[in-house]
Amino acid sequence: MRHKYMIGNWKLNGSLHGNEALISALKSGIQSKAGATCAVCISAPYLAQAKQLLAGSPIRWGAQDASRYEKGAYTGEVSAAMVAEFGSTFCLVGHSERRALFGDADEVVAEKLGHIKAARLTPIICVGETLDERVAGRTEQVVGRQIDALMVARGVDILRDGLLAYEPVWAIGTGKTASPQEAQQVHAFIRGRIAGLDARIAESLPILYGGSVKASNAAQLLAMPDIDGGLVGGASLVAQEFIGIWSAL
Ligand code: PEP
Repeated sequence: MRHKYMIGNWKLNGSLHGNEALISALKSGIQSKAGATCAVCISAPYLAQAKQLLAGSPIRWGAQDASRYEKGAYTGEVSAAMVAEFGSTFCLVGHSERRALFGDADEVVAEKLGHIKAARLTPIICVGETLDERVAGRTEQVVGRQIDALMVARGVDILRDGLLAYEPVWAIGTGKTASPQEAQQVHAFIRGRIAGLDARIAESLPILYGGSVKASNAAQLLAMPDIDGGLVGGASLVAQEFIGIWSAL
């Protein structure tokens, strides 16, 4: 039985005051569950606040990205080691918004992944195709390329103790969710691709689904055999929604 995860991605949202209210509501509604982990990935300036407010609760925390560099003259960057210093468990990497808006090509994602692992954070590696790519029947080609690039650069061992998230770009923030069958098909493809390199790593690798997950559609998605949890954007900012999704896990 694979461990299950429900991870909130707050994106570029939050304030000291707003986070306090949201975290307080999450702490009252999210109880620990055997075999499952809940976490929120927040903007780096709020990691200290998360550490203070979430310590001792079953909710873990992490960042949404980390620099491709370890340290030095890289103004504005936040390193994986800095993220780790605040008690973080997780770090997203390769989110489609980073890939599309900030130039995070496969090789950049591979470099970031190396630093995230070196800092002993658990990476949540995001992959997924755009609408055009899906319509052109290229979903497996695109997702396969994203995974292969990381495997070539870092080796399959990099996935040990890591998480993967399949997030079809056309389903992120659009309200359009992949059907449970569509998502399952890609999750099975991903597991098969990794099994070609290491069957044991593939079998134990948690693969999360992300893309307009809500309390109302979570249970059907989570019932699929290769869907091991969710990466939740918009709905993770609404306490009752996120608590409802956690309940469906
Ligand atoms: C995301 O940004 O990772 C995401 C899945 O967003 P949303 O749930 O809003 O589609």
